[in-house]
Amino acid sequence: MNILTFGPNGSGKGTQGAIVKEKYNIAHIESGAIFREHIKGGTELGKKAKEYIDRGDLVPDDITVPMVLETLDNNKGGWLLDGFPRSKAQAEALDKALKDAGITLDYVIEILLDREIAKDRIMGRRLCANDNNHPNHIAFEAIKPVEKDGKLVCRVCGGELSARADDQDVDAISKRHDIYYDDVTGTVAAVNYFKENGGTKVISVDGSASIKEVSSSLMGQLS
Ligand code: AMP
Repeated sequence: MNILTFGPNGSGKGTQGAIVKEKYNIAHIESGAIFREHIKGGTELGKKAKEYIDRGDLVPDDITVPMVLETLDNNKGGWLLDGFPRSKAQAEALDKALKDAGITLDYVIEILLDREIAKDRIMGRRLCANDNNHPNHIAFEAIKPVEKDGKLVCRVCGGELSARADDQDVDAISKRHDIYYDDVTGTVAAVNYFKENGGTKVISVDGSASIKEVSSSLMGQLS
């Protein structure tokens, strides 16, 4: 099972992705998380990507596309890809690479959310140091971090929490959303590419509902 997920930063894409990944027992591949791993590890790729990420700009395709394709190649058992493609050009590159390799794309998931709501949501999310798939958000009861020794820790494992620097920077958020909502060359254009090219079922869900409602709407449409 190979799935693409789309949704503006803050739409709950990561949370829903973790649920879908469990359903099919497939790898959850997040381009942003791969970059953060490289930055943490001090790799050459991480050093090159960091300046773009800190500004909220896209990392250039000559770095991003081969990195993602290599990761897909290492996960032949199936994947849920999150954060890629983020532009029409990346959608075309991915479509071609999958066709060349004879790989079927089973579903495209799109989470719809108003830009202002997405921005408010981004600023409250927290990252677990132990597991990227442990969602924590200070404004959502269902995934609120817990308090331990006067500190907020991961509600799943008690791990240390941090906020991403690019999640607290209003200009960087705005830039990321400019890229997402751009329907000419940006991410919405990438979603439209898959809608227009047929071949893969595109599932669109309303991301303003609760986590449970969004996931049950999603599950009802996935076979
Ligand atoms: P994310 O965790 O998905 O919000 O990604 C964090 C940052 O990584 C983005 O703001 C970009 O700078 C970079 N990034 C992630 N995915 C891509 C991509 N498909 N193309 C270019 N840059 C990306």
